[in-house]
Amino acid sequence: MIVMKFGGTSVGNADRIRNLSKIVSENIHRKPIVVVSAFNGVTDHLINLAYNALKGDLNLDWLINRYLNVMEELGLDFDLLKEEFKELEVILKGISYLKELNAKILDLVMSFGERTSSKIIAEYLNNVGINARQFNAYDIGLITDSNFGNAEVLEQSYENINKYLSNLKDCVPVITGFIGKDPKGRITTLGRGGSDYTATIIGAAVNAEEVQIWTDVNGIMTADPKVCPNAKVIDALTYEEAYELAYFGAKVLHPKTILPAKRKNIPIRILNSFNPSNKGTYIVANVERKRKVIAIVSKKNINIINIHSPKMFLAYGYLYKIFEVFNIHKIPVDLISTSEVNVSLTIENKYEVAELIKDLKEIADVELYPSRASISLIGKEINQEPNIAGKAFSILGEKGINIEMISSGSSKINISFVVNQELADLCVRELHKVFFENE
Ligand code: ADP
Ligand code: ASP
Ligand code: MG
Repeated sequence: MIVMKFGGTSVGNADRIRNLSKIVSENIHRKPIVVVSAFNGVTDHLINLAYNALKGDLNLDWLINRYLNVMEELGLDFDLLKEEFKELEVILKGISYLKELNAKILDLVMSFGERTSSKIIAEYLNNVGINARQFNAYDIGLITDSNFGNAEVLEQSYENINKYLSNLKDCVPVITGFIGKDPKGRITTLGRGGSDYTATIIGAAVNAEEVQIWTDVNGIMTADPKVCPNAKVIDALTYEEAYELAYFGAKVLHPKTILPAKRKNIPIRILNSFNPSNKGTYIVANVERKRKVIAIVSKKNINIINIHSPKMFLAYGYLYKIFEVFNIHKIPVDLISTSEVNVSLTIENKYEVAELIKDLKEIADVELYPSRASISLIGKEINQEPNIAGKAFSILGEKGINIEMISSGSSKINISFVVNQELADLCVRELHKVFFENE
């Protein structure tokens, strides 16, 4: 049994869906379970619709036309989505009447992307002779906590899904990525890009032989190919490397994707639906290689928070007090760099910081530096070669790029530093030259 997850660009139009059906049928002997994302752009559009509804604009034309075009080309009847569109309209009306929009309502609205794409794909697969059945992940047992917008899957899901899917005979399940339900039956989402995570949750639940992530690039690359055209495909990575790479900014994988696969030792393969014969990237427990740096990733839209308190010199409990504040505000810290009286750390700018800073100011002087980016060099033995950081910093120095914060060693898998966001792409390209192109 294998899990095959198709991302937004792999299901975005009629051609891509035909292509998907070919890939699935070529793998039919491996008993595929298909997980799908929303059509590309649809999740963003649904978010816009929710905000438009708040302003009283309930226009669904763009969405309807998007589906009509695809479905007409595939020979499918738009009535297939009648129920979903009726429900979406009611919800948007509700938002406009109540003038209320929150994470819970947004999750419900976003869920229509995957609920509709999976229905279209299952129907099309049937029309071309593949016995497929559509499922919403929550109807086969995927339950989460109630952290709307970034929900965590509950342990019980694995057994539920296993039970459900092992009772299905001779059909290809086509399952919604990204969404679940909390124990009260409310729809949740697993965080943007979360369909990858759904794929390994299902893979781990059924003990799949492999989880395949079908996307629009030839695999995980030495840098984002959109930023660095010379990026090369990495043949194989360890689970830990893939996690760090995803966590520190490589959009190709949702970071949590690795966890269920690692637990069950299930390999993940990243494949290109535009170039299916390419062998892609393999993610497994152990990889033998000589090179130390395997990729350069960047994460934009982060803030540096600088916390300084000379009066804490030689005092204990300082760090405890600071992290207590982050804990109270439930804001995760990505990178840290400390000295006796100074602590610099980074957080994603999606978190509201006004209250956090107010509380931190009770303890120390606080400065916020917005619009920063972290740059990370990734590799499982990166800390075993002495001159990697030196090499990186000297080239950036030569280019006049100011490094504002350095953090290394905590995971042994990355060396990370922070620069002004506008310089992030340049940094990635320059470092890529040094570590991958000038050898
Ligand atoms: P999908 O819709 O299939 O989930 P995503 O857009 O989420 O696809 O992820 C694929 C994109 O990730 C690629 O188009 C690429 O621009 C980006 N990306 C960022 N970093 C990397 C990397 N190191 N290797 C490969 N792709 C990357
Ligand atoms: N459709 C969701 C998103 O755009 C989930 C995914 O594509 O993985 O974030
Ligand atoms: Mg994705």
